[in-house]
Amino acid sequence: MISLTEKDMLRYKRQIDIPGFGIRAQKRLKRAQVTVAGAGGLGSAVLTYLAAAGIGNITIIDSDKVELSNLNRQTLYQNKDTNKSKAQRAVNTLKQLNPDIEIHGIEAQINKDNIEGLLKGAKALVDCVDNFHTRYVLNNAALKQDIPLFHGACYGFEGRATTIVPKKTACLRCMVPVTPRKEVYPIIGSVAGTIGTIQATEVIKYFTGAGSLLLNKLLVLDSLFWRSELVDIERNPGCPDCRR
Ligand SMILES: [Zn+2]
Repeated sequence: MISLTEKDMLRYKRQIDIPGFGIRAQKRLKRAQVTVAGAGGLGSAVLTYLAAAGIGNITIIDSDKVELSNLNRQTLYQNKDTNKSKAQRAVNTLKQLNPDIEIHGIEAQINKDNIEGLLKGAKALVDCVDNFHTRYVLNNAALKQDIPLFHGACYGFEGRATTIVPKKTACLRCMVPVTPRKEVYPIIGSVAGTIGTIQATEVIKYFTGAGSLLLNKLLVLDSLFWRSELVDIERNPGCPDCRR
């Protein structure tokens, strides 16, 4: 049985105090196991806020080393971290933020052969990768292992997010049937932060049952003009990934 320590009560007081949230929701976050694929621009925001909120067990998967061109958006890292492992640096930074949770870093390039092992124990998967090839691998694994997938993506000043729950919603392949041609996107760091915090909020809502999730809805946010839209997504009955 999970319980909150006195320190937990202090650390998370400002969220425990939200009407309808309380100790019960906080315990659910403490019990949660979340895997975050990619510790880049989206991942920096997702990981920071999940660790701060008290998700009890976080796994970070990233094979890259920190590069200077990452630092316009990847706020988990500092200038001195260039050429160091992102997974390791991210764990280090997050442990300093919240030493009371379990955080593991795995340096691995995600592929269809290793994803099953990488997701062992995960109760949620957050898509913070930067290419659809890997996103489809995550999508398939989430469907197969029946875990929710929290998708986010950005291009320039625009960002998108949705939450995929296997057997309940359309999957990522239903929404984006083929890999978009362009794979290296220009991006404003603060927009990655905006979308990443939306993903983190969805994860928190999923575990605590608060509000309603972006199920079969793609949130499209254009931060140049602050236009936002909730686009309905429908399951493709012929989808090769979520056929059932
Ligand atoms: Zn599908």
